Amino acid sequence: MAPAKAKVLLSLLLIAGEARAAFFAAAGKVDITPDLKREGAYLAGYGAAGRKARGIADRLYARALLLSDGRKTVALVGVDSIGLYREDIERMRRSLGWLGEDRYLFVSATHSHSAPDTLGLWGPLPGISGVKKKYQRRLNDSIVALVKDLSGRLEEAKIGAWRVETKPNGLCYDLRDPIVIDPEINVVQLRSRRSPERALATLVRWSCHPEVIGRDNDHISSDYVGPLCEKIEEAGGGTCVFQSGLIGGLMSPETDHSPLRHFEEAKRVGHAVAALAIKATRAGGEWTQGSVDFRSRLVRVPVENSRYLFFMPNLTFGHKLFGQNGRRIGKTQAYFLSLRHLIFFPLPERLRPWAETEISLVQAGPVAFLGIPGEMFPELAIGGYDGRYRFGHPLIRPTNPNPPDLRRAPKGPYLRQRLGKHAVLVGLANDEIGYIVPEYDFIFNPNRAMHPRPPGTHYEETNSIGRSAAALLLGAYEEMLAEYAGR
Ligand SMILES: [Zn+2]
Repeated sequence: MAPAKAKVLLSLLLIAGEARAAFFAAAGKVDITPDLKREGAYLAGYGAAGRKARGIADRLYARALLLSDGRKTVALVGVDSIGLYREDIERMRRSLGWLGEDRYLFVSATHSHSAPDTLGLWGPLPGISGVKKKYQRRLNDSIVALVKDLSGRLEEAKIGAWRVETKPNGLCYDLRDPIVIDPEINVVQLRSRRSPERALATLVRWSCHPEVIGRDNDHISSDYVGPLCEKIEEAGGGTCVFQSGLIGGLMSPETDHSPLRHFEEAKRVGHAVAALAIKATRAGGEWTQGSVDFRSRLVRVPVENSRYLFFMPNLTFGHKLFGQNGRRIGKTQAYFLSLRHLIFFPLPERLRPWAETEISLVQAGPVAFLGIPGEMFPELAIGGYDGRYRFGHPLIRPTNPNPPDLRRAPKGPYLRQRLGKHAVLVGLANDEIGYIVPEYDFIFNPNRAMHPRPPGTHYEETNSIGRSAAALLLGAYEEMLAEYAGR
């Protein structure tokens, strides 16, 4: 090769290398509070029917952080919402034109139990959807517009990440045995490269149901997430993106449950978590740049829950359903299968549908975000069967009439250990399939159609797609992580 040519090639390689090292970010938020006069709303969460919203206690937002290394771009969006189904996320991806291999939309819901019904489960009567189409459309359009806007505002950035181990006592506790509470708060901050004192965004991930504000409330609220994010934004942390973690089995706020103090308590919990996050970012740390990459996988899980099978046409609202032969099940067929389930209860196994969901892995510099499409029990991802995460509570309540057999519990290494140093395990990411329950402790009465709940703490089984889901998802994660490691 002639020397001149070699020189050109070398400088081209250097430019390519430089482009690869570049790291960009942009962040912002959009108000998604429902207009109660024009759009209306039923509050989601708690029980089988919704509560008509009669006022606004605080505003709801979709907050987004866009990350790019010049080759690949990922948008991490946190939405004040009970949950969003995969079909909604797919609709947003289509609107953005983000279906290829270089851009990825990662949307997670905060799971506020005082946000509008976006899942079709909490209408005026049990079994009737509370989704307001006008609002649902605006919610989707607002997120798309926000991501588009941020795409034009990327600036060079640096990333820092912290893992805060905290005692959850007084903030969150576990309603189901074994007591396993994820003590980790993940904090990720992006700063402008040009003016490093300016934070563009702070991402906080914590594992506890946003249900400080109880079922007697009829006002729209973000629960503890709003106060948490406001505190971080006021402290100069840029846009605060909150992500829900491992909240299944069941992580509930440890608060004063008097309805008179609900909003005060939501503030207390939100501010306490925000203070820990702010302290972490001020303690210093390493600021780096790095590449942006992602992987996602479709996973089909069988719909085994007898209650879900009664409402199969509703399932087609948010998911693609398939028969055992792999053929797509449409709304009409779903209707007939539900009817058959009702008349000749139960529906034979060969006729039960499989729902398609999505798992994902996003790498941004040193941080790995794992997308979990529902409410995973913490023990599935971090273990804790030896009592290390019980924080003074008994591992199994002595009064439990139906205690879990821990000898059958899965052995490690668990997901978090497999992912390494800065693993952020995000629940309700790109879908909501309900509780993801460990197979060994999935106990239900198969012949009781609407209340298949045995004695003890087995509520989650009634809001889970089925017993097989956990193992199928964990298997898919294993394959995806192996593929990623060998890339
Ligand atoms: Zn929940």
